[in-house]
Amino acid sequence: MNHLWQERLRWDRDHLWHPYTSTIDPLEVYPVVSAKGATITLADGTELTDGMSSWWAAIHGYSHPVLVQALQGQAETLSHIMFGGLTHEPAVELGKLLCESVLPKGVDTIFYADSGSVAVEVAMKMALQYQHAKGERQRTRFAALSSAYHGDTWHAMSVCDPITGMHGLFAGALTPQYFLPQPSIPFGGVWSEEAMRPLQNLLEEKGEEIAALILEPIVQGAGGMYFYHPEYLRQARRLCSHFGVLLIFDEIATGFGRTGEMLAAYHADVLPDIICIGKALTGGCMTLSATATTKEIADIICSGEAGCFMHGPTFMANPLACSVALASTRLLLSKPWRKRVKEIEQTLRSELSSLADLSTVKEVRCLGAIGVVEMKQPVDMKRLIPQFIEEKIWVRPFGRLVYLMPPFMAVTDEELFKLTSGLSKIVKQNAVQR
Ligand code: PMP
Repeated sequence: MNHLWQERLRWDRDHLWHPYTSTIDPLEVYPVVSAKGATITLADGTELTDGMSSWWAAIHGYSHPVLVQALQGQAETLSHIMFGGLTHEPAVELGKLLCESVLPKGVDTIFYADSGSVAVEVAMKMALQYQHAKGERQRTRFAALSSAYHGDTWHAMSVCDPITGMHGLFAGALTPQYFLPQPSIPFGGVWSEEAMRPLQNLLEEKGEEIAALILEPIVQGAGGMYFYHPEYLRQARRLCSHFGVLLIFDEIATGFGRTGEMLAAYHADVLPDIICIGKALTGGCMTLSATATTKEIADIICSGEAGCFMHGPTFMANPLACSVALASTRLLLSKPWRKRVKEIEQTLRSELSSLADLSTVKEVRCLGAIGVVEMKQPVDMKRLIPQFIEEKIWVRPFGRLVYLMPPFMAVTDEELFKLTSGLSKIVKQNAVQR
């Protein structure tokens, strides 16, 4: 590492906070100078194959020429303009494409926001304003699933699992919400109506207080990478409609093909009332999210006391972000993404499944372009990450989970094998060392 980088890293260590990282004993950070396709290049010239897609986002890999061109072209004409009282082509064209090809029919009234967490805040505010406008003012609480993760801002935190989630510390300060057990039947398991009993009971007892049920459909991400049965969503839809509770799907991690469907909701063919998308919306190039609902719900919200929806961020519908999101979504739709995700799922399954035989491994599960090795004990990130770097792969485990979610539209078969074999080697190596 040259002098300049050594100095920068020291400064970074002393002054920059990284996600979920201590200032007293920070994990090592690796300086990245560029990234292209599925390759991340470090300052010392090391090339890593990316197994993380920058947390579900970079589905086309990095520096894709189509996305770069969209950003450059937009920057030359209109990089930002306030969305209050003004509109622009990228916002409208992106909205049209989302309604035509991504969102379920009818969920076609879109609010653009800045990040996934803010999209969740917006969804929760929509649900509250809707209930308020309907005269159901006592419906101020939310129901969520155990092991849920919905973001780091205040109300998003309140619907993250209060015990196992990353926000347990704030529990006393957050609005207490109602938590259901994690859906008991896994994806591919044998369905039993018993799985709905907790939701049925909650809605019978407390349904009158609840504005909405929020959940990550099919895949619970940061809360444990758990895949559950689509029937849960169909039954949740039925129960929510019956008890006057809105149904919010947080598709921020699952959206844009990652699970093998454009949205995870399509595994169940269920129509939620509100959907949040983010992350891969811009192909991981910029921060942008959207919360969509039906025109009927939007109109009820706006018929209430306030006369409008009470939210309006400064950078709402940022043209650069909308333009790159439009390019990314068009690019995805122009490619055989479904076939590619299926192939990746098969490779992840065939290459990772045997790790389940190790005494240190609890379970291996794969769905779409997500491969998860759940260990019996929490992993030591500090020890493991340098080992992955040695293998020239970028994998960042957390808790008991070592997982791959490669940039599925960029990763080659060769790169995918490099990821699976590198991961397998390190998991086995550490099984022996214990
Ligand atoms: N919801 C889900 C399901 C997520 O996985 C995340 C991010 N990991 C968020 C919300 C929050 O998104 P952001 O980090 O963009 O605020």
